[in-house]
Amino acid sequence: MSELLTTARIEEIGSLGAGSPDPAALVTELVSAVDEGRVADPAETGYALLVAADILEQAGDLADALALATRAVAEQPDDNTFVRAVRGGLLLRLGRVDEGLAELGDLRPLLETDPDAVQLVQELAESGHAETAVDWLTQALDTMVSRSRTHQHESEDAQDAAAAMIYGLAQRRHDLREEMGLPHDEYDNLADRLRDATSHAADALDDGPATLLFWPRPEFEALLARWPALAESYPATWDEHRAQIERALVDASGLGGGDLGIVAGSVEGLAAFAGADAIDEETLDEYADSLDDAGVTSWPPSRNDACWCGSGTKYKKCCLPRSRA
Ligand SMILES: [Zn+2]
Ligand SMILES: [Zn+2]
Repeated sequence: MSELLTTARIEEIGSLGAGSPDPAALVTELVSAVDEGRVADPAETGYALLVAADILEQAGDLADALALATRAVAEQPDDNTFVRAVRGGLLLRLGRVDEGLAELGDLRPLLETDPDAVQLVQELAESGHAETAVDWLTQALDTMVSRSRTHQHESEDAQDAAAAMIYGLAQRRHDLREEMGLPHDEYDNLADRLRDATSHAADALDDGPATLLFWPRPEFEALLARWPALAESYPATWDEHRAQIERALVDASGLGGGDLGIVAGSVEGLAAFAGADAIDEETLDEYADSLDDAGVTSWPPSRNDACWCGSGTKYKKCCLPRSRA
């Protein structure tokens, strides 16, 4: 038991999950690798612990899941909004309501600035606190909308960022209230208007939906082998490539982009498209546009759907948490 725990193996374990014949062995495999410093990419330590926590949670062992989520938070002292939200959700599901609300409450101011903070709303909604989730969203919107109306932002960039957050929160609140069977209120109408405006704006750009070109793992390697100069346009590893795409889509959705999606490229397809032309970033953009009709995978998938990257793992255990780590 001295081999390294690779990222691919963490994902594989995530997809086997609680449905495997021996989930406890999978948890042990993950945790012992963390304990013994055998995680191949140390930046994925928190992710390994989150996958282990999720398996335990599905198996009904909330207390041990919480212990691992707590370790994951400690492993990731910065930029850990997502992990802390998961931990807060576990506390709520364990009936430790005061502590859970305190953990999520600490993150609450981030609703105004950090797109990842929407996860805390998710955790509230999934643990029987949907009304609290709506309240928090309402108050965050109240603050942000009044700040916008009175032009209290320091810069145009800050104004744009606030508008993007307002868009995201209003949509989440709209959908949550719809699930609760509540009638439209003023913010729900605002959410509808913003959504319409966004899709009109996207139409007007005549670019159609915003789609990003993604290379499945074998294609990514073949691409760089065939056109080594493209190494300047892409990150060094396929893992970084997919994380970059996920982050770009998160950013685009925060900016109010509608109809986001991914098209998968193939080396053969690109070669046929480009013919004798040299392949540069412009060629890649044109090639991506040419694929639009062939089949765009819309983004984001549901949390429980297979991840868009083709790993075979559920989205919520694959690119969703990894790109936010
Ligand atoms: Zn509506
Ligand atoms: Zn993925």
